[in-house]
Amino acid sequence: MRTKSGKNVEYDYLVIATGSNPRTDLIEGLDEHGDIFYTLEGAKKLREKLRKFEGGRVVVSNAAPHKCPVAPLEITFMLDEYFRAKGIRDKVELHYTYPIGRVHALEPVANWAVPEFEKRDIKYETLFNMEKIEGKNGSGVIHSMEGFEKEFDLLIAIPPHKGTDALINSGIQDGWVPTDRHLLKAEGHENVYVCGDTTNLPISKAGSTAHFEADVVAENIIAEIKEGHPARDYDGKVMCFIETGFSSATYVWFNYTTPPDPVPPSKMIHWLKLGYNRIYWLTARGIL
Ligand SMILES: Cc1cc2nc3c(=O)[nH]c(=O)nc-3n(C[C@H](O)[C@H](O)[C@H](O)COP(=O)(O)OP(=O)(O)OC[C@H]3O[C@@H](n4cnc5c(N)ncnc54)[C@H](O)[C@@H]3O)c2cc1C
Repeated sequence: MRTKSGKNVEYDYLVIATGSNPRTDLIEGLDEHGDIFYTLEGAKKLREKLRKFEGGRVVVSNAAPHKCPVAPLEITFMLDEYFRAKGIRDKVELHYTYPIGRVHALEPVANWAVPEFEKRDIKYETLFNMEKIEGKNGSGVIHSMEGFEKEFDLLIAIPPHKGTDALINSGIQDGWVPTDRHLLKAEGHENVYVCGDTTNLPISKAGSTAHFEADVVAENIIAEIKEGHPARDYDGKVMCFIETGFSSATYVWFNYTTPPDPVPPSKMIHWLKLGYNRIYWLTARGIL
């Protein structure tokens, strides 16, 4: 492996865990006329816009693939609650678009989300893929690949993601490393493991995915060194909380063989998520 500065690094085992990046540059006009919350800088800019927003049409528009597949649902539910708390919900039309024929990639999550949208008067449109954004004075229009147009006063876009440039420049398509779904080895490479967003596996690109995969990768490298062969398979496990506002949440867990089944949202699950976040990072830092 060669570093950017040209240094060659030898390895017995390599773990590729270089994540994924939102690529606003792939949609014409998005950088100029849209907002994103998938980067710190983008989220801060959006926060300022939301503080000043007094009404109009807000569109949350998804492209694919993207990390944290439930985050766009979460921000949509939170926006609904935010505008209600601000006393301007009646002046806001809240829209959500998704690129495939349902509102979420996971069918049970899509089936769960539709009535939640309807309860909150959130309008949704499927089979809508952003192609080009035009804008003037903050408002604008999204042109979709399907030939439709959608006007907005605030566009919150989830741009398509790609893997890191170093992988793309090494000839790996879109930076998604072809990966064995159970062993998590890069296809054709016995001593290269892949972990997290940068696999090409058809599972959620999420922190919890990276967490569960990391367990398998670490144990397998230890087993290979000690015993000469990997010890465990990854079963596709993912676990995600889904915030349904500022004080309620549900969660899903699933793997390659068991589909997700969201439970009714509750305050208790929301508090569980907040507690879990604290405990997770305290544990990771060795404090707990
Ligand atoms: C707004 C938002 C909310 C989210 N919420 C959740 C959530 O609630 N639950 C959940 O499970 N997930 C969530 N996620 C997703 C989660 O953050 C990612 O899926 C997770 O961080 C992926 O982990 P990773 O290790 O694959 O990549 P990353 O965490 O992105 O780490 C990749 C690392 O590789 C480094 N890197 C990249 N290229 C190179 C290179 N060429 N050389 C050296 N280093 C390199 C990067 O700098 C980075 O440090 C959220 C994401 C966003 C944006």
